[in-house]
Amino acid sequence: SQLATDLAATVRSIPDYPKPGIIFRDITTLLGNPRAFRRAVDELVQPWAGSKIDKVAGIEARGFILGGAVAHQASAGFIPIRKKGKLPHATVRIAYSLEYGLDEMEMHEDAVTAGERVVLVDDLIATGGTAVAATKLLKQCGAEVVAAVFVIDLPDLGGADKLRALGTPVHTLMSFA
Ligand code: IMP
Repeated sequence: SQLATDLAATVRSIPDYPKPGIIFRDITTLLGNPRAFRRAVDELVQPWAGSKIDKVAGIEARGFILGGAVAHQASAGFIPIRKKGKLPHATVRIAYSLEYGLDEMEMHEDAVTAGERVVLVDDLIATGGTAVAATKLLKQCGAEVVAAVFVIDLPDLGGADKLRALGTPVHTLMSFA
């Protein structure tokens, strides 16, 4: 679509970062473009604009930038999902696999209450490991994860399909093969 083309043109692609053979998709150029940033936030909200959302959960760190704007637009609260050891109050924690080894993410245990309707936001979904773990944390605390939204999908890595197979509707604004 024209939207995907226009927005995609504002994403910077950096070859061989963070290592040889990887093309890093850098959204700082999208964020720095006033029209692109607004358009991306509007489009992330649009698929569920008609339904009531209690909270938006953003994944550290780029999910905070997008998720904060999405939460404001939706008049929802915001939940930070962070790398372990960053949150000051009692947390729930989950381990998830990265390309090399394991990491852990956390959420305040009282960030969501049973039955709350939550939308998950991040900049990009690749293998889905990060988003699947975040969804599990939210569900563990009783949240209903109404949707997971991302600016960028890397469909060859299968993450969006994995998340959908686990029952979470996924919406992305553009794909890179
Ligand atoms: P996954 O867990 O394999 O789906 O990787 C997604 C996570 O890694 C997200 O939190 C992204 O921010 C980050 N990530 C992976 N590749 C890229 C990239 O090319 N650009 C920006 N973020 C990326």
